[in-house]
Formats: sequence, structure tokens, C-alpha cells
Amino acid sequence: MSDKLPEYEVFALKYADRQAKRADHFIGGDPHDAPMPMDYFVWVIRGNGRQYLVDTGFTAEVAAQRKRHHIRCPIDSLKLLDIDPARIDDVILTHMHYDHVGSFHKLPNARFHLQEKELHFVTGRHMRYPFFNRSFEIEEVVGIVRLNFKGKVELVTGEVDFAPGITLHPTPGHTAGLQVVRVHTKRGWVVLASDASHYYENMRANRPFATAFHIGDMVDSYRVLEKLAPSPAHIVPGHDPLVMQEYPAPDRKLEGIVVRLDVEPKRLS
Ligand SMILES: [Zn+2]
Repeated sequence: MSDKLPEYEVFALKYADRQAKRADHFIGGDPHDAPMPMDYFVWVIRGNGRQYLVDTGFTAEVAAQRKRHHIRCPIDSLKLLDIDPARIDDVILTHMHYDHVGSFHKLPNARFHLQEKELHFVTGRHMRYPFFNRSFEIEEVVGIVRLNFKGKVELVTGEVDFAPGITLHPTPGHTAGLQVVRVHTKRGWVVLASDASHYYENMRANRPFATAFHIGDMVDSYRVLEKLAPSPAHIVPGHDPLVMQEYPAPDRKLEGIVVRLDVEPKRLS
């Protein structure tokens, strides 16, 4: 069966980064006072006559407020891959944190595919607590609610066959309704883990990331990633700078900006 599935190209586009320390990324901190920078990505899936965007990144304004280093607008940068943002019809949102949903308004013709549980979470009782609400931008939450009233949000529940060779899977923990995307490529199924594992180290060492809704669910979701992927090298973490080093740029002029995830990585991690 699987040989009949489309084989997509998959790209990670880096749009921002920040300096950070190891202790910032693990519950309980870390004994080593060493740097551990964070990269910010959106992902593009292309093939079978279609193109899909996974997450929309954050804007320069939000980067300035949150003291992040914004390198380029993730949506304008789609043009580097010859993609007109106005021709993006479908966006998969892994979750609604500010760094994953922030530029949705720059995609005028898109429908947004999100787990219904995530929308319940971001409009529900836990948002009164700064620990949970600080990773969301209220105007973005309200913006997605408005788009839902316009019929532009597809709220999915559980595992979903999104398109031939693309499936969505709930991986709660970091947020209540986080989902990951599994894409069929020429090297087999690739799992875009997004924040189900920020770094390789979170899932490999079972050390949950510091921003969490449910820690037990987060660790269980590492096991979901492992089940979905044919090997650990097929799981792409959401914020690890190693991704830019392990995978090749599609083109020399895109070095340091875009990498291809549908080809075998050099294993550095
Ligand atoms: Zn994130």
C-alpha cells in the first residue's frame, strides 16, 4: 500500500532564534551552566500537486516584545521556495503558542486545521493563570476564534487522515491540544514533532521541556513520536538548532535559511 502514497518534499524554514541556557529547557533545570540556543521554524510540505504550511511563526512586533531575534518574516519567506502566501489554502497548526500561530493574518486564503481540544484549552479555565497563558498572545487567540466564526478553521479531533500520505496525531503535554504531523516522503514517514519535543534531548533523555501543561502526557507523547516514526532519525524536533546542521539546504542560496527534511540527515545528535 505504502508505495502508492505520494512522496512529499518537506522543508524547515528558520525565521528566528534566541540565546538560552540548558537550564531553560528542562523541568528541574540542568546542572551545567552551558548555552543551549533555540531556533524557530515553520515547515512546508509540498507534493502531489499541493503545498501545505505547518505553523505560521511570530511577527517582528511580537519578537520585539518577547526579546526574540527575528530574522525574517516566515510568511514572506515562503517566496524563497517559490510559494505565494496568497496561494496557501491549508495550514496545519500544531498548537496555538505565539511562536506557532503568530502570522496567521498574512495568509488571506488559508483554512487552519487545529485540534478542537487546543481551542478549548486556550479559551478555557486554565487561561486565568499566567503560567499557562504567558505563551499565548490574546489577540491571536481571539483572531483564531474570529476565523472560526468565518468558517476558516477546521477543528479536528484525534488522529486524522489529513491528505494522502499526511496524518495528524494528538501529542498532548506541552499544551492540551498539541498535534504532530506525519508526512510520507521518499525516505519513509517523517514526523514533524513541533513542540512534542523541542530538542532531540527532550525525547531521547525523557527530560520534559520547561513549558508544560501536563508532564505525564508530555513524556507519553515522546512514545507516540517513536511509534509514528520508522527510526529516531525520522523525527524532527521543533526548536533544535541541530536540524539546520543535519539536513541539507535545497539550494546554496538558501543555506542557513531552509533545509530539506525528506532526505537522510547527517547524524550529529
Ligand atoms: Zn514552539
